[in-house]
Amino acid sequence: MAVLVTSSPLGGRFCEPASAFLRPDRVEAYSGGIRFDRDRPRGVEYHVKLSLKSHKELKMSKHVYFFGNGKADGKESMKNLLGGKGANLAEMAGHRDLRLPVPPGFTITTEVCSYYYRHRQSYPRELRGQVTAALGRVEKLLGKRFGDAGNPLLVSVRSGARRSMPGMMETVLNVGLTERTIAGLIARTNNPRFAYDAYRRLIMMYSDVAMEKVDIALGRREEPADGQGIRKLLDNRLAEMKAARGCRSDTELKADDLRTLIDDFKRMVKETLGRDFPDDPQEQLWGGIGAVFASWNGKRAVEYRRIERIPDEWGTAVNVQAMVFGNMGDDCATGVAFTRNPGSGENRFYGEYLVNAQGEDVVAGIRTPAPVNEYSKNAQSEKLPTLEKLMPAVYRQLDDIQRRLERHYRDMQDIEFTIENGKLFMLQCRTGKRNGVAAVRMAMDMLREKLIDERTALERVAPGQLVELMLPVIEAKAEAAAGVIARGLPAGPGAAKGRAVFTSEEAVAWAGRGEKVILVREETSPEDVDGMHKAQAILTSKGGMTSHAALVARGWGKCCIVGSPDIEIAEDGKSFVTPKGAAVKEGDWITLNGTRGTVYAGALALVDPDLAANESYKKLMKLVDKHKRLAVRTNADTPRDTQKAVAFGAEGIGLFRTEHMFYGEGSDEPLFLLRKMIMSEGEPERRAALSELFPFVKRDVKATMEALEGRPLTIRLIDPPLHEFVPHSEDKLEELAQELKIPLAEVRKRGEDLKESNPMLGHRGVRLGITYPEITEMQVRAIFEAAGELLREGKKAFPEIMVPVTCAVSELDHQKVIVERVHAEVCGRLQLKRIPHLYGTMIEIPRAALTANRMAATAAFFSYGTNDLTQMGFGFSRDDIGGFLPDYLRQKILPVDPFQTIDQEGIGELIRIGIERGRAARRRLHGDHLKIGICGEHGGDPESVKFCHRVGMDYVSCSPFRVPISRLAAAQAALADGPGKKKRARRK
Ligand code: PEP
Ligand code: MG
Repeated sequence: MAVLVTSSPLGGRFCEPASAFLRPDRVEAYSGGIRFDRDRPRGVEYHVKLSLKSHKELKMSKHVYFFGNGKADGKESMKNLLGGKGANLAEMAGHRDLRLPVPPGFTITTEVCSYYYRHRQSYPRELRGQVTAALGRVEKLLGKRFGDAGNPLLVSVRSGARRSMPGMMETVLNVGLTERTIAGLIARTNNPRFAYDAYRRLIMMYSDVAMEKVDIALGRREEPADGQGIRKLLDNRLAEMKAARGCRSDTELKADDLRTLIDDFKRMVKETLGRDFPDDPQEQLWGGIGAVFASWNGKRAVEYRRIERIPDEWGTAVNVQAMVFGNMGDDCATGVAFTRNPGSGENRFYGEYLVNAQGEDVVAGIRTPAPVNEYSKNAQSEKLPTLEKLMPAVYRQLDDIQRRLERHYRDMQDIEFTIENGKLFMLQCRTGKRNGVAAVRMAMDMLREKLIDERTALERVAPGQLVELMLPVIEAKAEAAAGVIARGLPAGPGAAKGRAVFTSEEAVAWAGRGEKVILVREETSPEDVDGMHKAQAILTSKGGMTSHAALVARGWGKCCIVGSPDIEIAEDGKSFVTPKGAAVKEGDWITLNGTRGTVYAGALALVDPDLAANESYKKLMKLVDKHKRLAVRTNADTPRDTQKAVAFGAEGIGLFRTEHMFYGEGSDEPLFLLRKMIMSEGEPERRAALSELFPFVKRDVKATMEALEGRPLTIRLIDPPLHEFVPHSEDKLEELAQELKIPLAEVRKRGEDLKESNPMLGHRGVRLGITYPEITEMQVRAIFEAAGELLREGKKAFPEIMVPVTCAVSELDHQKVIVERVHAEVCGRLQLKRIPHLYGTMIEIPRAALTANRMAATAAFFSYGTNDLTQMGFGFSRDDIGGFLPDYLRQKILPVDPFQTIDQEGIGELIRIGIERGRAARRRLHGDHLKIGICGEHGGDPESVKFCHRVGMDYVSCSPFRVPISRLAAAQAALADGPGKKKRARRK
């Protein structure tokens, strides 16, 4: 059935209007939302093919998929319907290459979850029959019966969404244990202690998730007060019993103790929840199924989905599986393992296990798990026996299975296993999570091992993960052990530790004494740059991802957390407190994880990666260059940053912000001269000041150009409103007054006169060059002289002069006259025929994008300034968005921060229009190719880079540390074009 959908909402992620389009009775089976290609032109009608089941069809549907004994109704590719866990259980159990020892069971589909939510927590009528039939197959296979007093079958009931949501939803184990069946379990196992332990675990889990939490979810019960939840009450009772018996571990409790506990637990459940713990296996089973479905909308799961951007519509499947026990004695165990080391990527089987334990004991961390083999030993587990030694035959079987699983899935697998009386069972396998270092190594190793092809290898590494290869990180164990004291936006990745200081001056002073400091501010301004530079990291309580602190830190590759609402800086500016009661005074050590946005008290251990020695990284980047089409440049303004970026693979500079030479180290003199120029009155005075400034500008441009060795250098003419540079301090104003030979009051007045109500929309960018052409002239002369001198020295130089904040071609024409005149003058003076260069513009005002055909008549290149284009396109102030963006994201009014990832639907449309109109006009008028790039922060955001590739830009430009990230994203974008598409010729 084809459905016509006429619009898509923000970012094209999910098409809500689709559901309005469809008749409600045909929407029942519609559980997934409709995915749109984020890059399809808007305003075009979409033809979406949906296989929608009618009400009748749904009733006939298969809701339950069996697996076990070498057979399975499902398979790995059915993740959307069976969830990740269910699909992999089916694959492990039923695929002819695997047929692994998986305890039999069945999966209830995610469609049932959608039904459950659409029909007031009820199920399709035929579900019960299908569950009974599947349960019957399990019973037959195992020779046990669910609810049988002699030989009872027990099952686990677990969640399993399309994408793993670790620990976010509920699980109930040992379902089927009742007063009747426990006798059978004791008789069969001859182990009353084990049976009672299983029963008390069932009561604890079930009363918590299937009774109390479901009641809360259905609005039948209020959230209990802290410490009053049933789970906590039962835990307390267990602790009391252990104390009374002098036991340290649960395992030391005797059968009688556990029997007593069970009776106590049942009484407490009745008292607390007002009803009996169910003694009927069917009631337990359906209660467990309902608990899993209800947990899809539990607080934790909803929050996790929001962070991970998992659609609410997906729903979870429910896996019901025969229990196997790792806690029936010393020939039993349970464990978790990875087919390769997820921390280093090394191709070695790595895992941990616990003898005589259930899975939850491994997770709970009460006992130290033992290593499965010598390789998996660590400081804590060094002395513990390996599984390889303890149960050699089982280990050999497990090792063989892990190899087969990895070969089958062609990726590192994370597996869970249980050994019951010496017999191995596989409970789960899924693609294992890994850190950046491991991801790169595994991808390159697997490519070499011919397990995967080049395309897959490149897709195996998320571009953002490369950051982890470049920056120090907190040592994993230290981080896990430390408590987070505050959270904020992860603006600059990596980790750093230092003593907290609260002003830029203090940062400089402490750093001068050889101390490592972290600068903590409400927000930063250009005047803080020195302190920011000296600090190991920056932490602010206000501001968003494009705030001053974020921008500067990202440019330097410095660890930075911004907009942390948890940080309240004291009035005297010498300490901060957090809601959790942490207090940090000046001089106290703190540690920041800028990748996650988490703050810790104290100095945690950091580890430094060595990129040059990372052979896998080097191989990956070689592969990246083979496949990508987009060039990747950098935003840099100093030779040092340029060299760093070139080492990271930058192919030129896409944005040299001239004004940066007036901030930070060594800026005193040029800044003073700039201020003098700003405060000058009349052209002659201004020209005099400009000629004093000229050598500094030329020196910086020349040094950067030289570091580029002929790669293109896009230099932007001065952009910020002049008032930004007016000094605030008395002594600086006084100094200017003396220099200009005017009274202090006059300097103050001139400064005041430059103030604007809305400076970002005020006298900035090209507007300065129009009012004061001599400012443009000085900069252009510095650029041409720098380039010309290099050429005469036999070196290479290729400047691209870029005019900022333009909205009309007449502005460009006006400035071009100056550029051409100065070019001719410099060529004459240096006796050069021509200094190769380009003249172009930033596109950062919507009008400029819409009139791109006219702009391209004069501009030979465009560079999208998507920071300002987003600001002006949305009407959101870049510096104030932190105040409302969290609400927008939480309420899903916007899917993502548009200053981080290009809003393809709106701003992206402006970009597309600009490219189309600009390129067509340029071809028509000049017969050449309009070079187009991007230099806003988005140039370092993988999703945005992919968009830039798709719309046909020539390059992206980003801060030095993001160059490898953008290169990988560019390669992934090129691969997404498909093998049929030939690589477009690259233009320099
Ligand atoms: C932009 O606006 O995207 C840009 C690169 O310029 P700036 O951030 O300096 O305003
Ligand atoms: Mg801008």
